[in-house]
Amino acid sequence: MLKTINLHKKYNDFTALKSLDLEVGEGEIFALLGQNGAGKSTTINILLGLIKPTSGDAFINNISVTENPQKIKKHLAYIPETVLLYHNLTGIENLDFFSKIAGFNYSKGELSALLERTGLQQTAHEKPLGGYSKGMRQKVGIAIALAKDAKVLLLDEPTSGLDPIATSEFTEIVRQLGQEGRTILMATHDIFNAVSVATNIGIMKQGELVQNLPSKSFSAEELQDLYLKTI
Ligand code: ATP
Repeated sequence: MLKTINLHKKYNDFTALKSLDLEVGEGEIFALLGQNGAGKSTTINILLGLIKPTSGDAFINNISVTENPQKIKKHLAYIPETVLLYHNLTGIENLDFFSKIAGFNYSKGELSALLERTGLQQTAHEKPLGGYSKGMRQKVGIAIALAKDAKVLLLDEPTSGLDPIATSEFTEIVRQLGQEGRTILMATHDIFNAVSVATNIGIMKQGELVQNLPSKSFSAEELQDLYLKTI
């Protein structure tokens, strides 16, 4: 569903990605770990079509990201660390606005049902985003992905700055999305979250994927040990 083949990215003389081969299948949740500057966001930005690789290519549902950047957009949803939404609009209004941009026109009941699927309490649906916590904004971001029926979700440090309850709620939503058959690539520094939700774990170091393992083989402590030995 998501694949990168021999992906390289250079910023002038600096090599940010080296020969990245990555494959995430339908229903898989791939947690990409690595120190600051390891190349995680660069990978996500290439998949989003925001930056061009120096060489190699990436594919979403067998569509080349470099050849068809517009076509892949309808399969993709992106949830950054801070979901950018309109603070003066309510949760429902934001969802309606971004759904329409993606070409979907939902009734108010349908929009509300989408927000409910993410666990956003009903009393918040009609309140302005300005009063939402970070975890609540993340839920609206997930609802936008559901509204688009995105088959592939790219998450960049989605639990950074969330409290433990919001993190655990977010983890549960991500697990459900995987069980629905969606493909998820998640860049994270959160080892505990990676172990609890991911099906596969990758560790990047200086632009290379130096570990790629099924997550079932680890406890959080074991992954932390491996991470520290790897980086
Ligand atoms: P973090 O965990 O801090 O988000 P990351 O693993 O996502 O880090 P990237 O943001 O992909 O890392 O950056 C990889 C490397 O590429 C870093 O050394 C960064 O400084 C460099 N880099 C990223 N964008 C640019 C750019 N536009 N121009 C030059 N160098 C860049």
